[in-house]
Amino acid sequence: MTEHTSRVAVVTGASSGIGEATARALAAAGYHVVVGARRLSRLRRLADEIDGTARQLDVTDEASVAAFADALDRADVLVNNAGGAKGLAPVADADLDDWRWMWETNVLGTLRLTKALLPKLIASGDGLIVTITSVAALAPYDNGAGYTSAKHAQAVLHRTLRGELLGKPVRLTEIAPGAVETEFSLVRFDGDEERAAAVYRGITPLLAADIADLVAFVASRPPHVNIDQIVVKPRDQADAGRFSRQA
Ligand code: NAP
Repeated sequence: MTEHTSRVAVVTGASSGIGEATARALAAAGYHVVVGARRLSRLRRLADEIDGTARQLDVTDEASVAAFADALDRADVLVNNAGGAKGLAPVADADLDDWRWMWETNVLGTLRLTKALLPKLIASGDGLIVTITSVAALAPYDNGAGYTSAKHAQAVLHRTLRGELLGKPVRLTEIAPGAVETEFSLVRFDGDEERAAAVYRGITPLLAADIADLVAFVASRPPHVNIDQIVVKPRDQADAGRFSRQA
């Protein structure tokens, strides 16, 4: 275990997309960033670039989370970012394995990491938990119940902590993005590049760096300022299913 004198930020799901961009932004803001995900080679490349620490992490695996948490000497910021969607199907045709993946990763993954790091976040004297939920945590949409229900549950878990941790030196921020162009849709559609590209066709989506900027902004506020929730969408998106698309 390396002793760190600078503040330590932990970012889950940092091997791509929002997590990777967030790790870069927090490193630029002066944090030592510990990046976790399952694809270790990607994490190592990133950690080399930002002078951070790469650690393999599967948020669905108790032993992996315990080993990840034990290896940290301190934690000042936790970004619960690991997550995603699998499939797009009406409830009548729901794939139970897809649902299990979404609930295990988004909901129980956030629960596992939060539980494991909470003592260190409190001990830091100025802890911050940022959870990346989604506009899917704000309203349901047709064919999306596996993801919207998981994101609602993840958000309610996060929001509950705001009350339960009152009096403790930990701030809580939920960031609920609309469409961000990352590997999200590729994962959702099981590697189907054509289908994934169609999600962003004709709109100017958010970039991972747009969300990372918000995390860095939240983390740079003074300790008495708690930004509870940020909802951020592309200008071309009104809600989860309503877009203005150029032909
Ligand atoms: P992404 O590019 O697919 O990134 C997802 C990250 O989660 C990857 O680094 C992946 O790493 C990690 N991950 C998945 N399962 C994991 C597990 N079991 N253990 C540890 N890490 C795991 O997608 P993204 O858009 O950046 O998604 C990040 C977060 O933003 C997710 O929570 C997503 O629900 C949310 N979000 C995305 C959008 C969007 O439009 N893109 C909108 C709203 C909210 P490994 O595969 O290497 O483990």
